[in-house]
Amino acid sequence: MLPDIRSQTRETLAAQFAAWGQPAYRLDQLLGWLYARRAVSWDAMTNLSKSLRQQLAETWSLRLPELVVKQGSSDTTQKFLWRLADGALIESVLIPANPGLYGDASDRHTLCISTQVGCAYGCRFCASGLDGWKRNLEPSEIIGQILAVERWAASVEAAVTPATVPAPTEVPASSTESTVETTATDPAAAIVPGAPVAPAAPPAAPRPPERIVNNIVVMGMGEPLANFENLMAALRTLNASWGCGIGARKITISTSGVVPGIRSLARDPLQFRLAISLHGATDAVRGQIMPVNRKYPLTELTSACEEYVRLKGKMITLEYILIAGVNDGLDQVEPLATLAHRLHAKVNLIPYNTVEGLPWVRPSDDVCETFADQLEQHEVVTTLRREKGHDIDAACGQLRLKTEAKESEVA
Ligand code: SAH
Ligand code: SF4
Repeated sequence: MLPDIRSQTRETLAAQFAAWGQPAYRLDQLLGWLYARRAVSWDAMTNLSKSLRQQLAETWSLRLPELVVKQGSSDTTQKFLWRLADGALIESVLIPANPGLYGDASDRHTLCISTQVGCAYGCRFCASGLDGWKRNLEPSEIIGQILAVERWAASVEAAVTPATVPAPTEVPASSTESTVETTATDPAAAIVPGAPVAPAAPPAAPRPPERIVNNIVVMGMGEPLANFENLMAALRTLNASWGCGIGARKITISTSGVVPGIRSLARDPLQFRLAISLHGATDAVRGQIMPVNRKYPLTELTSACEEYVRLKGKMITLEYILIAGVNDGLDQVEPLATLAHRLHAKVNLIPYNTVEGLPWVRPSDDVCETFADQLEQHEVVTTLRREKGHDIDAACGQLRLKTEAKESEVA
């Protein structure tokens, strides 16, 4: 199978275009098709010549994840189950604007994306790790989740208002863009020797569709920092002005506490946000539910986070799922407050989302609220999140497990 073009860096593509003798502006046209127009076929790229499209098709594949199931309605959390080229299943969750959680008030949609098929970290409460780890996602498969959701959203919108909203990517044959390279939109065409000097006004290129996802949380299936290189390649493209143009501050990476990854992230020039899945404020409690704590206990995790905060000058978030009888005791409040103060971190409390087949339960609302109040009394910036999408298996990994189980029943 050819490598996917959306896994290539801009530099790689530029070098290939130079080797093919293509002018630099052709690359910008290609990138526009890949990331602004979210193209799914080479034939859609009507302002690139047939021969260039042929060369591209012989060198790279051009795919987006294929939608298997979508759950949820358009004004609430929506969950997408995707099938990848090798048949693997992954999930993304689209969450409508929720000011104050990770982004700011102008956010329209947050997309929660996966970075691996399954997860090797085996946190006891999580559906993603139940079947173990299968493989890392390629950069194109990470980026593809955003583009595929946006294509889906644009097609839904177009179906509702067909007269005013253009189709997401396909440009009709009668498009203002030409199928040959030497057109009025092509700067080279203006200097053809002997050509009559009577250019009509260049036709306007169709306006690229608007971005629907403007906030990303890397909190789907998998441990992002265990797929560091592919994650960073994907995030660079999502962030770049020639890519999806999503600000680094609008991208939050969540980790179960992979210390070397946190230290590498601290040295990356881009200002991504960092969230730590803490879920226990002492080694005894954390170690019970998160095996990663054996490799990177709290002292190591804390010192990596301190380095991150020092080098980045940025606030981090501590995620804390409340699980009844496991980590919701008030004895955790003081050590959690101490950690939060030391790291200048805020705490997101998340009542546990039950997972079929696992014994853990969500504490009562009273218990959650008392825990939050106590933390606030310790002057910790605290949010108590009412888990969105409880009814649609929104906790990472659950929809995939159910679908795989159904598929194996059918087979
Ligand atoms: N592997 C990374 C990112 C993916 S998990 C990490 O662990 O941070 C994203 C978040 O979902 C984590 O905070 C994880 O602990 C949480 N999570 C997993 N299962 C959950 C469940 N059943 N209910 C609520 N949160 C859950
Ligand atoms: Fe993996 Fe994160 Fe789930 Fe732990 S919580 S098993 S690290 S996806």
